Amino acid sequence: MPSIAKGEERLILFESPDDFRFRVGYQEDLSLPKGHSFTIIGGYRFKKVNWLRCGVSSCKTLHGNGYVIRSADALETNIGHCCGQTILGAEWKAMFERFETRRKEEALQDVLARVLGTRDATLKQAETALHSLEAAAGTVRRIVTALECYGPLKRAFRDCLKQRGSLAYFRATTADEREMFRGQTSVRETKGHIDGWHAAAVDSNWLARELRFRVIVPLAEIQPDVLRGLPFRALEQRLRDFSSMASIVQMAEVYVEDAAKLSKPLNWHKFELYCDASKVQMDHQGYKALRTLAGTA
Ligand SMILES: [Zn+2]
Repeated sequence: MPSIAKGEERLILFESPDDFRFRVGYQEDLSLPKGHSFTIIGGYRFKKVNWLRCGVSSCKTLHGNGYVIRSADALETNIGHCCGQTILGAEWKAMFERFETRRKEEALQDVLARVLGTRDATLKQAETALHSLEAAAGTVRRIVTALECYGPLKRAFRDCLKQRGSLAYFRATTADEREMFRGQTSVRETKGHIDGWHAAAVDSNWLARELRFRVIVPLAEIQPDVLRGLPFRALEQRLRDFSSMASIVQMAEVYVEDAAKLSKPLNWHKFELYCDASKVQMDHQGYKALRTLAGTA
């Protein structure tokens, strides 16, 4: 981004009034003659305990949000937005726009530095995730295939996925219960939870594509100097693409963890109990499929 020269001072986020009170040029009381040029060098947003008076002689309003401005002859004071508009008018507008542009540019530079600084680590993490994802997707496919070969199991499992892995079903109420709950005919029973259910609900091919084309390829192709030289808008767009990378990698890592949980025998033992209790019509083929999943076949 060409508009910030190398070695130029960064804007300052003042954390307390003392951060600017003790600066060399600071004036607690400064008159602002029209036509003089000022620059906003930073801003502040203080809690009530740190509120202070506006530094402009003709104002002196107590406030918590404001800016520190510097004149051409290096005198500084603090000022609120309204005061700036009232006293400096069009000049304030121009100063403020410059300040806002600078603030955005600095934020973008920080993001860019972070992206470049973490690039190798993120790339390695994404490649590892992609590699583990392929194996994990194989595990999930094996489970889903075993379930799909038998209609009632497939339906029961789909129901569990819809209930976010919860092994819950409705059974008819007993005569006593109907009496107690005023004729209610069914009651919800919970038989546990399928851990890692999320993996079965996620499209692993889509996830692999996201990892490959939205993380690994763009990171591998980064040219730092080209990025640094991009105009503001273009850089903003590129950095927006980078901002979703961490969450894509994280999604893949969660998938791998979920697939490991999903393949645990205990899951399938619980699922078998659920099928028994919920009267899924199972014959030996269904039980055989479940024993395959539980690893007890
Ligand atoms: Zn003021």
